[in-house]
Amino acid sequence: AASTPAAPAGPARSAALAERASRVIPGGVNSPVRAFGSVGGTPRFLVSGSGPYVTDADGAEYVDLVASWGPALLGHAQPDVVEAVRSAASRGLGFGASVPEEAELAEEIIARVPLVERVRLVSTGTEATMTAIRLARGATGRPLLIKFAGHYHGHSDGLLAEAGSGLATLALPGSAGVTAETAAQTLVLPYNDLGALERAFAEHGDRIAAVIAEAAAANMGVLPPERGFTRGMIELAHAHGALVILDEVLTGFRAGPGGYWGIERADMPEGAAPDLVTFGKVVGGGLPLAALGGRADLMELLAPLGPVYQAGTLSGNPLAVAAGLTTLRLADDGAYARLGRAADAISSGLSEALASASVPHRVQRAGTLFSPVFGDYTEAPRDYADMQRQETWRHRAFFHAMLEQGVNLPPSAFEAWFVTAAHDDAAIERVIAALPAAARAAAS
Ligand code: PLP
Repeated sequence: AASTPAAPAGPARSAALAERASRVIPGGVNSPVRAFGSVGGTPRFLVSGSGPYVTDADGAEYVDLVASWGPALLGHAQPDVVEAVRSAASRGLGFGASVPEEAELAEEIIARVPLVERVRLVSTGTEATMTAIRLARGATGRPLLIKFAGHYHGHSDGLLAEAGSGLATLALPGSAGVTAETAAQTLVLPYNDLGALERAFAEHGDRIAAVIAEAAAANMGVLPPERGFTRGMIELAHAHGALVILDEVLTGFRAGPGGYWGIERADMPEGAAPDLVTFGKVVGGGLPLAALGGRADLMELLAPLGPVYQAGTLSGNPLAVAAGLTTLRLADDGAYARLGRAADAISSGLSEALASASVPHRVQRAGTLFSPVFGDYTEAPRDYADMQRQETWRHRAFFHAMLEQGVNLPPSAFEAWFVTAAHDDAAIERVIAALPAAARAAAS
């Protein structure tokens, strides 16, 4: 990738491609946030990526801080990952039968997250959380689920109530097409509020199958759990016979080597652990693969051993397994040190640039994940209501100023920024050089 700043020729080809796509694909996109709905302007069609850079259809190169929304932990087109996929592809694209590497990937996950004793591979994070909930209901014989406002767990019916990600971006409370009966099975509580959780358990305790939470919320912008929250959540759930599903689809193997649980685990007393954990994104190394893991006694309730049904034509697809396995094997201490260094440099540069331009803000952090919230946040935000009151117009101006200077940010104020282990000094410097002008744009 070139080290000179990109000089975008104007997104004429992207505009034409968007026009063409919009005639055959709803909104021109296959996932809503890609449509630039909340920032306006022309979504860039990307044609290639290498390390920390992506190139659009008009030939403009950007330092990428989206990283495929998380999976590209090692950067784009990492040569060893590409070679592993090429090698797997040459042996066949999939058989619908077990391949040897599936168990190797499961072992790699178990080694990193010791509470996980068994793993089932699926294709998307949505499937992983959907299956975890079915399993929790099957194991407990109870109907209700607790989730937290602003947490996103994919797009299955029961999980769209007050969800983050695209629903936060579009300010949607839920989705049409979800029946009232299904919505009523999910209780939505404010995040970081153990009192609210305690009251919900006091009222509905013996009907609650599980509490599901992002290990650190990162789909309403980054909002980590307050100290003691995760522990309190686990203890309350277990005291009432309910299970805890920790959703590490976004944070897993990215916030740190053992996910965000790997960061929190050290503070937990013996026995305080989630029962099920969901993974996605990084675990598939950029291809469609996700996973559900947990205690053996629970996981063995899944078919074919137990009565909880789950299946998938493409589950454990050999190309996806090769990409995930190679990514995790290469994600060593050195890779996490590079991720941490990039996150430190960009988040502190961001804070300095915004402060210099007198833009009220706070930079939120969870392991190697971070994102700014724009507005008066002298008190740290605690929950979705706090995150929703941010000044999104500042993000819009900031986003476009960065894009024009060749930096690709998430096109929403309610998303984390993603660095990769390939963000070297040259890439970081390009981001930092772009910040002052973007901060000035966010000030006016
Ligand atoms: N859970 C979390 C925490 C996520 O961030 C996401 C996706 O962003 C999902 C679940 C859903 O994963 P997928 O988009 O692969 O279905």
